[in-house]
Amino acid sequence: MTKIWENEKLICIEENDIQYIQFKKLLEYPEIKHCYTLRNNLNFPPIYKNEQLLKQSYKKISDCLKLDYTKIIKPHQTHTTNVEIVNEVKALENVDGLLTNKEGLTLLTTSADCISLLMYDPVKKVIGSIHSGWRGTLAGICINAVNKMVEGFNCNPKDIICCICPSIRKCCFEVDEDVRNLFYEKYKKLPELENIIIKDAVKERKQKYKIDTVKINICLLKSLGLKDENIVDSNICTVCHSDKFHSYRVDKEESGRNAALATLCRTGDVC
Ligand SMILES: [Zn+2]
Repeated sequence: MTKIWENEKLICIEENDIQYIQFKKLLEYPEIKHCYTLRNNLNFPPIYKNEQLLKQSYKKISDCLKLDYTKIIKPHQTHTTNVEIVNEVKALENVDGLLTNKEGLTLLTTSADCISLLMYDPVKKVIGSIHSGWRGTLAGICINAVNKMVEGFNCNPKDIICCICPSIRKCCFEVDEDVRNLFYEKYKKLPELENIIIKDAVKERKQKYKIDTVKINICLLKSLGLKDENIVDSNICTVCHSDKFHSYRVDKEESGRNAALATLCRTGDVC
């Protein structure tokens, strides 16, 4: 296990032939394991695309983090706002967020530019892995995730930690007027709107806009009662750093997927 780099929020580890990042904020809690994977020799494609490669990647990351790879739960994500509380390994259709307080289960969602949110409530011992792409952000999946933690587990939003994994950022999320209008209609009342929806260049006679989907998630999480210091942004753009992360905008249909995973360890396990 080698440390590749670190900054004040993140640490990047290389182990065997793969790399992953971890949030220092979550590393404060030895009862959980988590990571966000880099693209080196790892790809978590949709199951219908390459089940064998997906399973190989499960085993690789499980070996590094000492997880039981048969206890990984990965939903079939379809850009919904559906967040499900899971208690056992099972197939899940049209689910984009997972929560559990069961020890030993690994919650895994995948992304290639979409935002992955890793959630943890250290008081109620509830973990979550949430896929919030632009459609999920537009529809506000993080609101469903927090509400479900409150309703399902009696979590207090003040206790919930939310880590924002590498994703496409404002620098690269360029959209046309149609998508801009969807965000404007939904979020025109958000503070700092001028920093969230930005008028950009005209290209081929079309006005382009940049949208800060990370900032939208942060605003929504704060409005639900999460504390500033419990929202940790990785500040990494997967498009700018597509040499390190799978990026759909860069690799298009051939794009692989990065994984955001979290596990609540079995009592007595050394994490
Ligand atoms: Zn970028």
